[in-house]
Amino acid sequence: MQNPVPSLHESVSDFFDRAAVHAKLEPGLVSQIKVCNAVYRMRFPVKHDDGRIEVVEAFRAEHSHHRLPTKGGIRFSPHLTQEEVVGLAALMTYKCAIVGVPFGGAKGGVKIDPHAISDGFRERLTRRYTAELVSKNFIGPSVDVPAPDYGTGEREMAWIADTFRALQPGHMHTYACVTGKPLALHGIPGRKEATGLGVYFGIKEALADPADAAALGLTRGLPGKRVVVQGLGNVGYHAAKFLQQDGKAVIVALAEIEGAIHAPDGLDVDEVMKHRAATGSILDYPGATNLARAADALEVDCDIVVPAALEGQITAENAPRIRAKIVAEAANGPVTPDGEAILHAAGKLVVPDVYLNAGGVTVSYLEWLKNISHVSFGRISAYYDETEHSRFLETLERLTGKSLPESERKTLVHGAREIDLVRSALAETMIRSYDDIRRTARDNGLADLRTAAFLLAIQRVATTYTTMGIFP
Ligand code: NAD
Repeated sequence: MQNPVPSLHESVSDFFDRAAVHAKLEPGLVSQIKVCNAVYRMRFPVKHDDGRIEVVEAFRAEHSHHRLPTKGGIRFSPHLTQEEVVGLAALMTYKCAIVGVPFGGAKGGVKIDPHAISDGFRERLTRRYTAELVSKNFIGPSVDVPAPDYGTGEREMAWIADTFRALQPGHMHTYACVTGKPLALHGIPGRKEATGLGVYFGIKEALADPADAAALGLTRGLPGKRVVVQGLGNVGYHAAKFLQQDGKAVIVALAEIEGAIHAPDGLDVDEVMKHRAATGSILDYPGATNLARAADALEVDCDIVVPAALEGQITAENAPRIRAKIVAEAANGPVTPDGEAILHAAGKLVVPDVYLNAGGVTVSYLEWLKNISHVSFGRISAYYDETEHSRFLETLERLTGKSLPESERKTLVHGAREIDLVRSALAETMIRSYDDIRRTARDNGLADLRTAAFLLAIQRVATTYTTMGIFP
C-alpha cells in the first residue's frame, strides 16, 4: 500500500531535518530555526452579494522573527489549513535566507474557493482580513508584509494597502505594508512576472554547466529543450512564456484545472491563453491533443517538467512515470519527499521551490525598498548615465573619425530605467544563489540541491542568531 501523501508542512519538516544533520549546530538553535514563532487564526463574517453571511476561516503565520519584517504571500484556497500556512511560512524563511533577502518568513491565507466568489465578496473579504491583521499587529512595513500567492493578485494587494492606510493614518511608509501592488499604487515594474522570470533564470542556470547537463543526458542550454508546464496562473504563465520566448524552449504540453493539451512540435503560450480567454478552456486548442486527465501532462515525454500550480503533485505514486530529466519546482511543495527519492534514484535533477520560485520575494524586496525610500530606482541616475555615455561615445567618435549607426548608439547610451534594474537584480540573484547552493552541495558532499539549499538557509539563519548573541 502507498504511503498517504504528506502535507506540505510535513514535507518541509522532513527536508529541514535532512539538511539540519549536516549543519552540526546546537540542538536548541536548530529547534528555534525550525519552529513557527507566531500564528494568528481568525474567523470573521463576510456578506455575500445576496445578503447571506458566511463565516470564513483565515490565518497568518510568522515563521521566523530573526529578521524583520516578515514576508510572505496570501493565498485564497478552499483546502487551506493552519498546517499548510505554517509550512509555507517556514519555506519563506529559508527562501529569503537563500537569496539574501533580509526578511523572516511568513504566509497567510483565507479558506475560500477563489473561483467561486464574486468581486464584491472578494473585496469585502480582503478588506476584513486586512483589518483583522491590523488589529493584532500582524501587518505593517516593519512588522509583516504580505504579497500575492495562489488565488490573489495585484487587485487584492491594492485593497490591502488601501485598508491599511485607512486604519493607520499618517503612517510614513504606508505603501510598504504590502508588495505586489499595481504600479499606480506604488508597485514596481516587473513584480507581476518576477516569480515566473526567476523560474526561467533558475532553469537556465541548471543547464548552464556542460558537465551538469551531460550528467542528466542533456546538452547545455535551454534552446530546443522540451518543456511541460502545469498551471497557467501568475507563476506558470510567465515561466512558460519566458522559457518559450527568451529561452527558445519548446513547450510540448500545458495543464490547467480543466485539463491538459499536448503538441510534440510545440505550443505558443500566448496563443493558448487567447484560446482559453475565448473558449473558457485550454482544451481543443487547434493542432494539440487533449489528454485524458490534467495530471497526465506531468508524465509526457519531455526534458523539463515545471509544476507551477499547487503542492503534492509528484508523489511516490506518479514519480516512477515522470520522464523529464529536470523537475523544476515553480510551485511551493509540488514534489513530496518520497516522490523526490524516486526521482533521485532515477538520476533526475529536482530544482527545489525554496530556491526556484524566490524571484517573487526578491522583487518584492525591491518594491519594499522603493516604498520606504520613496523614490523609483533609476530616477536619479538614468538621465545622468545617458548624458555620460553620450559624451563618452562622442569623444570616441571624434578620436576614431567613425560614427555608430543610430540604433546601436541608442542601445549603448541607454541609462538604466527601473524595469532594467529590477530584471538585472533578479537575474543576478538567481545566478548567484544557484552558485551558492551548488557550492554548499560540493563542500558538504551532498548529492541533491534541496538538501544543500536548506543547509545553506539553516547556516545563514543560525549566523544571524549567533551574531545577535541569542545562541552561543
Ligand atoms: P495562481 O492562482 O495565479 O495560479 C495557479 C494556477 O494553477 C491557476 O490558474 C489554477 O487554475 C491552476 N491549477 C490549480 N490546480 C491545478 C491542477 N490540478 N492542474 C493544473 N492547473 C491547476 O497562483 P500563483 O501565484 O501562480 O501560484 C502558483 C504556485 O506558485 C503556488 O504554489 C504558490 O504558492 C507558488 N508561488 C507563487 C508566487 C507568486 O509570486 N505568485 C511566488 C512564489 C511561489
